[in-house]
Amino acid sequence: MRLALFTVVLGGWLAAVGCQPADVTADPPKQRVQFGEDRAPKPDDPKATPAEGKAAFDGERAVKYLKQVCDLGPRVSGSDGMAKQQELLVKHFEGLGGKVTKQEFQASQKSQAKKVGMTNLIVSWFPERKNRIILCCHYDTRPAADQEGDKRSWAKPFVSANDGTSGVAFLMELAHQMKDFPTAVGVDFVIFDGEEWVFTGPDGTDDYFLGSTHFAQEYKKAEKTRKHTYTAAVLFDLFAHDGAKLRIEDYSWQYASKLVLDVWGVADQLKAKSFQFARGFNRSTAVQDDHLPLLNVGIPAIDVIDFDYEHWHKLTDTPDKVSPKQLGEVALVITTWMKGLKEK
Ligand SMILES: [Zn+2]
Repeated sequence: MRLALFTVVLGGWLAAVGCQPADVTADPPKQRVQFGEDRAPKPDDPKATPAEGKAAFDGERAVKYLKQVCDLGPRVSGSDGMAKQQELLVKHFEGLGGKVTKQEFQASQKSQAKKVGMTNLIVSWFPERKNRIILCCHYDTRPAADQEGDKRSWAKPFVSANDGTSGVAFLMELAHQMKDFPTAVGVDFVIFDGEEWVFTGPDGTDDYFLGSTHFAQEYKKAEKTRKHTYTAAVLFDLFAHDGAKLRIEDYSWQYASKLVLDVWGVADQLKAKSFQFARGFNRSTAVQDDHLPLLNVGIPAIDVIDFDYEHWHKLTDTPDKVSPKQLGEVALVITTWMKGLKEK
C-alpha cells in the first residue's frame, strides 16, 4: 500500500528537474520518515572486515579507466563519443567475464524534434541467481556545462569526470573481482543512458532519467514473467572526489531507510570517513536522480552522492578531481556490504 502512494508522489516529482536540488518541503509525502540523526547505524554483519577482501580494488587503475573514458571527449546520448564508449565498455566487461546485455530504446525529448537511440548497459554477474542487487550509474554526459556562469562556455567540450563517469570507472575496476566474488546474490551493474540528455538549461522543461525510467518500466512490465527480483540498488554519482562528504539523501532515506542503515552501518564499522551519517547537503537535502525511477517500481534504491561537489556541471569537472583513495574507500564499503548479503 505504501508503495502505491509513493508512486503517485514520486511521479509528480519526476516531472521536475533531475540531479538538481529538489524542494521536498513543497510537496512532502504523508508517510515521510523522520530523519533519525540520533539513530546509531547497525550493520547486519558485524564480522565483515576489510581483511576478507580477496582481490583488492585498485583505485589508481580506476582513475586510469576514468581518464581513458574522458579522453573520448563528450559522450552525449546518441553521439559518436557515446558509441565509442559503449564499444570500450562492452569489450572491458565481457573480457572480465560479465554477461553484457544492451537494453536499446528510442528516446524522445520535449525540446528535440527527433528521437534518439539510447542504450542501457546491463552487466550481469551470477546471471542464474534470482535474488539480485543493482550497482548503477549513468554514462551519458550533459550536452552543456550549464552551471558555468558565462553562457559562451556552455558549448565547450564537457567531460563530466565525477558526474557519471566516476561511477563507470568504479564499476570497470570492480569488475576485476566480480567473477568469483563471495556473495550470495546476483549482481547487475546497470549503466544508464539519458540521465541528462537535457538541452533547456538547469531550469528548463526537458525530462531527465530517460534510461533509468526505461529500465524501471521494462522491469515492471516483466513482473509476471521475469525470474529475478531486485532487492536493492545503489547509485553512484558525484561520489569520488577528494574530500567527498557522502551524506544521506532525503529520497533514499524516505523510501529505502533500511538499505541506508545497512550501507552506512558497514561504513561506520570500517571507519570509512567519507560516509557521514547526517542529512543531505548545503545545496539541497534531496536530489532527484536515477534512483527515483527504481524506487517508483518498488526497488529499494539509494543515492551515494555528495551534491555539494563544487565542479558539478562545470567545465572544471575533470579527471584530476577524482581521487583513487576515495574510490577505494567506497569500494571497501560496498564490497563488504555485498559479502554480508544473504540469499532470500
Ligand atoms: Zn549531472
